[in-house]
Parts: sequence; structure tokens; C-alpha cells
Amino acid sequence: MAKPKVGIYGFTGCAGCQLEILNLEDILLDIVGAIDIVNFRMAKSQNDDVTQLDVAVIEGSIVTKEQEEEIKKIRDKTKIMIAVGDCACFGGVQKLTQFQNLEEAKKLVYGDVQMKHAIASPLHSRAIDEVVKVDAKLPCCPMVKEEFVEALKCLLAGKKIDIKPHAVCEECRKNGNVCFFEKGHVCMGTVTLAGCGSLCPSNGYPCEGCRGPVEEANIPEQVQRMRENGLSDEDINRKFRKFTSGAKEFANALEIAKNAQATNAPQEAKK
Ligand code: SF4
Ligand code: SF4
Ligand code: SF4
Repeated sequence: MAKPKVGIYGFTGCAGCQLEILNLEDILLDIVGAIDIVNFRMAKSQNDDVTQLDVAVIEGSIVTKEQEEEIKKIRDKTKIMIAVGDCACFGGVQKLTQFQNLEEAKKLVYGDVQMKHAIASPLHSRAIDEVVKVDAKLPCCPMVKEEFVEALKCLLAGKKIDIKPHAVCEECRKNGNVCFFEKGHVCMGTVTLAGCGSLCPSNGYPCEGCRGPVEEANIPEQVQRMRENGLSDEDINRKFRKFTSGAKEFANALEIAKNAQATNAPQEAKK
């Protein structure tokens, strides 16, 4: 039986998610044995841009017109497209320019230096599914390599990917960690999608929300707790938006909290 044909592509990001594929080490050879990787510029010198693909793995966000054309061409020849990492799933840290004028953002980065070699006409960063249809999204910065392998296996077997429906807190408690809130620190695990095994709290750091919002995240409560821990609204926005400002719940956390307060106020008054 012919092996499934897979292409691995990098758009705008740091290439850390593609590196995670190479970091699979022990099982990389098994994967390479089970699939036919026809395109992986980071790892191969001979690449095929023509063959129809069973699976395309996409890292990075779309920030130019040229990239927009390229991702559309890849989509046209692909059965299943997976976006891996926050850049591909949410537009990445670079999506933060959405809150700014692009010319001003360019000036902040490059100053008055003549941008001879800089991108002439950048666009605001877009997640892959803002440009083409995506069949599966594996967020995190970088992507979780074990999750990637499981997803690839599921997709190639025609099964649905098992996305965790709970927040990082659940994994964190299972791992026996003392909660950062109990120690007087802010942690984003309450509103963030699980699947990383509570990597940061388990290693002594609060969750920074890099997997994006869990379904039905209680944003107003999280905002309230952040305020109680002394964060200003500016700090709260920064925390929510840092990795996944492409997720509307995180981009608009303060607005969501304000609306919830306005809705609850009359009910509280009636009591
Ligand atoms: S998601 Fe993170 S690790 Fe992956 S390409 Fe973007 S910045 Fe790099
Ligand atoms: S430390 Fe963070 S992830 Fe762990 S239980 Fe507390 S809020 Fe949740
Ligand atoms: S604990 Fe939070 S910040 Fe750390 S990897 Fe998991 S989701 Fe990302």
C-alpha cells in the first residue's frame, strides 16, 4: 500500500514547531517509515511542490500577499490540513499588531532605518484558518510533539482528534502542584485549554495561556482574580493577549468582564 504523502511547511514564526518534529528523535524514524514526506524544507534539500498531499502540516502565520497565494495553492492539493503552534492556529505573538496601525508597528521595530531589505508590504498577521479551511488545530508555543504524533495517527486512520475539553488546572491538580493563586501569583491555567500536561506550573512557572482559551472559559472570574492580585487593566490585557490575541475571548477579556458585570448588577440589586 502506498504511504500517505505529507508536506510540512513553515510560514511566519520562529520555526520552533518544525524543530519539535525533528526533536521527536526516538520515534522520528518510525514516522518517516510510515509516511512519505514529500516536502519539508527545514529538513530536506529535495522537495516536491507538485504532488497531491494526504496531509499538510502548517507552522506559522500569514503576513504577506505572497504567503496568502502559497497557502491557497497548498490547500488546493491537500486532503487534510493541520495547523500546528500558536502562529498557525491564532496568528501568534505577531498578531498583536492588530491593535496598532501597521505603519506605526513597522516604525517601532525598524525605526527610521531605510527598509531596503524589509518586507515591503506586510499585512496584519492571520491564522491559517483566516485564509483557508483548516481541518485540525494543535495550539501551543511550540506545539506539543506528542499531541502532534497522536493527531497525525488519528487523521491518517480517518479518526477524529481527541481534543481535551478541560482547562490546564485539571492536569495541574492531577500533577499535585500547589496552585500559584494560593501563593499570591497570577496563573492563566484556569481559562487555558489543557493538553500540555500543565508543563509550566509543573516546572515552577505560572501558565501564560499559550494554548488559548478552553471552551466556556470563565473570563470575568479570571479578570476579577487578576485584579485582586494587583494587576492593572493594561497588565491584564497583556497577559491575555500575549500568545493568542487571535482568540476573541482573550483579545476582548476586559470587555467580556465588563459586560458580565453590567448583566449581573441588576440581578444582584434585586436580591
Ligand atoms: S508557535 Fe511558537 S514555536 Fe511555533 S512557530 Fe510560532 S513562535 Fe515558534
Ligand atoms: S497553578 Fe495555575 S494551572 Fe495550576 S491549579 Fe493553579 S491556576 Fe490552575
Ligand atoms: S502551562 Fe500554559 S503556558 Fe505552559 S505550555 Fe501549558 S498552556 Fe502553555
